[in-house]
Amino acid sequence: MNEKQRTESQQVKESRPTDKKSEKDYSKYFEKTYAAPSLKDAKRRGKEAVQYHNDFSISEQFRDMGKGRKFLIRTYGCQMNEHDTEVMAGIFMALGYEPTTDVKETNVILLNTCAIRENAENKVFGELGHLKALKRENPDLLIGVCGCMSQEESVVNRILQKHQFVDMIFGTHNIHRLPNILQDAYMSKEMVVEVWSKEGDIIENLPKVRKGNIKGWVNIMYGCDKFCTYCIVPFTRGKERSRRPEDIIQEVRHLAAQGYQEVTLLGQNVNAYGKDFTDMKYGLGDLMDEIRKIDIPRIRFTTSHPRDFDDRLIEVLAKGGNLVDHIHLPVQSGSSEVLKIMARKYNREQYLELVRKIKAAIPNVSLTTDIIVGYPNETEEQFEETLSLYKEVGYDAAYTFIYSPREGTPAAKMVDNVPMSVKKERLQRLNAVVNEISAQKMLEHKGQIVDVLVEGESKNNPDVLAGYTTKSKLVNFVGPKSAIGQIVKVRITDAKTWSLNGEMVDQIIEVK
Ligand code: SF4
Repeated sequence: MNEKQRTESQQVKESRPTDKKSEKDYSKYFEKTYAAPSLKDAKRRGKEAVQYHNDFSISEQFRDMGKGRKFLIRTYGCQMNEHDTEVMAGIFMALGYEPTTDVKETNVILLNTCAIRENAENKVFGELGHLKALKRENPDLLIGVCGCMSQEESVVNRILQKHQFVDMIFGTHNIHRLPNILQDAYMSKEMVVEVWSKEGDIIENLPKVRKGNIKGWVNIMYGCDKFCTYCIVPFTRGKERSRRPEDIIQEVRHLAAQGYQEVTLLGQNVNAYGKDFTDMKYGLGDLMDEIRKIDIPRIRFTTSHPRDFDDRLIEVLAKGGNLVDHIHLPVQSGSSEVLKIMARKYNREQYLELVRKIKAAIPNVSLTTDIIVGYPNETEEQFEETLSLYKEVGYDAAYTFIYSPREGTPAAKMVDNVPMSVKKERLQRLNAVVNEISAQKMLEHKGQIVDVLVEGESKNNPDVLAGYTTKSKLVNFVGPKSAIGQIVKVRITDAKTWSLNGEMVDQIIEVK
């Protein structure tokens, strides 16, 4: 729903009789008040400048809305969603709500959803099935669906038709409207749907409640203009738009002052950072060059698109220091033909040339990637090109997926002519290579002393601590609980495929 549609829907809503006892009639709802999110509108890329808003505040009328009430947010998908959850938690707290993890005592549940894969969507619909019983027990409970799935027409229609107990659906561009949406949901007998299909603005001063105080996420840009043929993100997150460097630097400084040990700069395509600035030439390399001067031990960024990864960024990353020696560089396929069908805008040779330049500048670099197997038309030879590229680059790890179509994307209209049995077999063969190389890379650490940022107790054993190296390797070791939140030296004694075991060497090297 765009702003015009929202205003119109609001007008219809205001003129509607509000007989709370009457039955819900969603056929009328469709006709009168509901304006669907539109993938067609979401695809549009206009020429209007990005609007920056610094004026978010909680209106007086909402100040006590959360008094005596609790909220719970379930988050699916990427770090961008995790970070959106931190913002929504900040808004809830500013409204006076308290956080809870107990579904029995909460007054509001939000599902912050992910649309990137079918599996992620199925999980959300499964969860809605469970919540139905909870809503029956507690009719005053508010249930909301937000995040990327709500930007999809088909999802909103399915919820409206089959999950009518849901109280609110709102989109990725509507997060700052959460107080109004909650208010509408409390007052209305009908589902509140507010999904703007727009290119997107930047809203600077939203409150945040960060998860943990060791690692922090900082958005540097929003949206994506790449339109890879399999991907729904450019439709759900709007156009590429960058935050001003001064706002980002201030946020990172603030985290450093609070004692955070690691910051990850976030964006769907961080390498396009700054391309939308009309008043200056300033890219991710320039931003990283400023941020590396801030007194914070580790700086990461994700996610990279190889096409926009430029020499200036490589030059800055080579300076090292707090810029970590790990780059996630999604390749998706090793075949130039498949990359062309995917509209990735680089070919195998260009990708390998980029890897060569990165390795020349940062010899110690660890590279990880994302790969899709079984893309429409992918032949055995093309798949083997992916295997050979994987071996040639020698990645430390990879997220590997079987292609599944996302409704609304160009690839969904392609004939998916690779049988599932072949896709599965290719995934197995790829994973065997991934595991083998990962185990080799892990083994290289045996006997080394590495810096580990300790995040907490191991999930499997509370007597063991767990943390990550600069190369994002999981390390388990026995150490004092006082090491949690700090960077300590650990000697690696044992290497497994996906983790390392070690023993703490001596003193804690970073105390903030
Ligand atoms: S770069 Fe491609 S895969 Fe990444 S978010 Fe944009 S469209 Fe999706």
